[in-house]
Amino acid sequence: MTTICNNLTAVRARIAGACREAGREAVEVRLLAVSKTFGPDAVREALDAGQRAFSENYLQEAVAKIDALAGLDIEWHCIGPIQSNKTRLAAEKFDWVQSVDRLKIAERLSAQRPEQLPPLNICLQVNIDGGENKSGVAPDEVASLARAVAALPRLRLRGLMTIPEPAATYEAQLAVHRQARALFDSLVAGGLPLDTLSLGMSADIESAVAAGSTMVRVGSAIFGGRARPA
Ligand SMILES: *Cc1c(COP(=O)(O)O)cnc(C)c1O
Repeated sequence: MTTICNNLTAVRARIAGACREAGREAVEVRLLAVSKTFGPDAVREALDAGQRAFSENYLQEAVAKIDALAGLDIEWHCIGPIQSNKTRLAAEKFDWVQSVDRLKIAERLSAQRPEQLPPLNICLQVNIDGGENKSGVAPDEVASLARAVAALPRLRLRGLMTIPEPAATYEAQLAVHRQARALFDSLVAGGLPLDTLSLGMSADIESAVAAGSTMVRVGSAIFGGRARPA
């Protein structure tokens, strides 16, 4: 067993434990491996250990990796900020983009999604705790953005993604995750057919699952510490 394989087993056990604690089924929470800064070999190792969904933050790095691993059964998610001049790459190379926070970006992704590919899966990134230097739409603007994005022909709006500020305690993490969950529930109650709440990273898997996350994005707990900040 490799380190990555062992780490994956441990992360899956954390998710399963958190689900048990919350009275949820483990299959309700997908694991998204965050492979940013790690090379194709690390992705291959995780793939061999049964991991299928991977995510990247930097488009240039991502595209090199996606091309190097072409032909393998991998679902690629973009979770980093996208400038409007880079939307074409994202529309062509990814299965999901979780970092949409402006209509202009969504419109470009829809227009540039190649015809032979299925609609691009989208999550709206929400700045749930008002962090000043963070991207993400403000919570009170999510509903109108969601409606506009849901109407775009080549996109499939799946849900919300948040990256809360690190919190010191489980209770503090849980409080912020619950705000994201409440926002998600209000959109569903408003008639949007959403199925994805992308919430939780290496440090806060447990509180995210307790709050109702359906997808945790885990990097360092699988691949180890990153050499450069990301
Ligand atoms: C890097 C990153 C993660 C993973 O963070 P870890 O703490 O390494 O698990 C998750 N989501 C986003 C958006 C990231 O940029």
